[in-house]
Amino acid sequence: MDAPFWSDGLYFECARCSACCRHEPGFVFLSTFDLRRLFTHSALAFREFVDTLLRTVDIGTGNAISLREKSNNDCILWNGNGCSAYEARPVQCATYPFWQGVIDTPEDWNRESLDCPGIGRGPLVTAEAIGDRLWRRRAYPPLIIPYDVALESIDEDTLLGRSGIASDTLNAR
Ligand code: SF4
Repeated sequence: MDAPFWSDGLYFECARCSACCRHEPGFVFLSTFDLRRLFTHSALAFREFVDTLLRTVDIGTGNAISLREKSNNDCILWNGNGCSAYEARPVQCATYPFWQGVIDTPEDWNRESLDCPGIGRGPLVTAEAIGDRLWRRRAYPPLIIPYDVALESIDEDTLLGRSGIASDTLNAR
């Protein structure tokens, strides 16, 4: 198999333009790992956490959990100056722009640079660091709820994967 085009690394440094957090509709899918970290960071009661921050998105095989958006399409966690949960931000956000579909080919990478001014600037991100981000996306997949299970009906321990078995069961059903 050929080495990926990024085997010598890629240049990226976030320009903090917030284009990937605001203005456009999109989905930030959450794993149980993300949910646990965000819940702890939020300091909200569990039901308030679910009702304020979460929504479900039909992805064809079930309903994935995503962050909500404000009416202007800003991420629900955007506070006017940046991410209000930056230290606990989801894996999807922390690994951007090193997503499989973005680094499949040089053309994909160049196309993404039209939306992200951080691409192509700053220090070199090594192949090892890029590989680590790809691994994290695979290691923490979005939690998918079966169609016959309402988000509102899932108890705290199950949604947050505290029992392990329960959240795995949600994904496997
Ligand atoms: S679009 Fe790129 S440069 Fe702008 S905030 Fe997102 S990652 Fe940073």
